[in-house]
Amino acid sequence: MSSATSQVKGLCGGVIKVDTPKQDDGSMQGLGGVSHAVMASSSTLWENGTVLSYSFFGGTPFQRKKVMDVMGEWTWYANITFKQMAENDANATIRITFDPKKGSWSYVGNLAKTCVGPAPTMNFGWIDDDDSISKKERGVILHEFGHVLGLMHEHESPARSGIIRLKEREIIQYYSEKQGWDEATVRSQILDVYTKDSVSNYSQFDPTSIMMYFMPGSMNEGGVDIHETTELSSFDKGNFQHSITTNLAD
Ligand SMILES: [Zn+2]
Repeated sequence: MSSATSQVKGLCGGVIKVDTPKQDDGSMQGLGGVSHAVMASSSTLWENGTVLSYSFFGGTPFQRKKVMDVMGEWTWYANITFKQMAENDANATIRITFDPKKGSWSYVGNLAKTCVGPAPTMNFGWIDDDDSISKKERGVILHEFGHVLGLMHEHESPARSGIIRLKEREIIQYYSEKQGWDEATVRSQILDVYTKDSVSNYSQFDPTSIMMYFMPGSMNEGGVDIHETTELSSFDKGNFQHSITTNLAD
């Protein structure tokens, strides 16, 4: 059981692999009030206007192009700019690998600075080497870059209990079989809930957030199906700027 701190430092299992029609997620409904579904920790957000340098370590031209084509979508809504550096630049803030054996994950926000180069700060484990990007690929790139900007998992929001009661045993078994995750990983990536002090803007649960995991109804008491998300939701788009502004003011 990880604390919120260890969660944000941990690797992100992200979206489930392409070979399964389902992903994970568990969410919640809001506590009412303000409709902010985007969650972020004020301490891990980048300063407004930050230019984030990034470098690819490996990957094919097709794989790298898919990431570059999609990652910039966040910059339409958040005041962050990405700057591409030469390949294998250990001084780049975001260092991207494509190891198919290591899943898809990213450090959250400025915690990437705690990772010393040339070690990767994010990995894409299932971006195919072809010129046609799939919805799942778009989804995982948007999700992991949400983490790069400082966003955390929607399904671990403090507000989720009002909406979805997760079945721990089923979820642990599912991710053990599908992802090979141990129980501690399942708890830190899905079951644990962030403390209210560690996140902001969680008052309304957004099951359509790109930061949600897909989750079949069999994984929660109410049988609520959480569909796979592959695009930014309106909350993802509309509240990110507000989130940054709010946190800078805190
Ligand atoms: Zn994630």
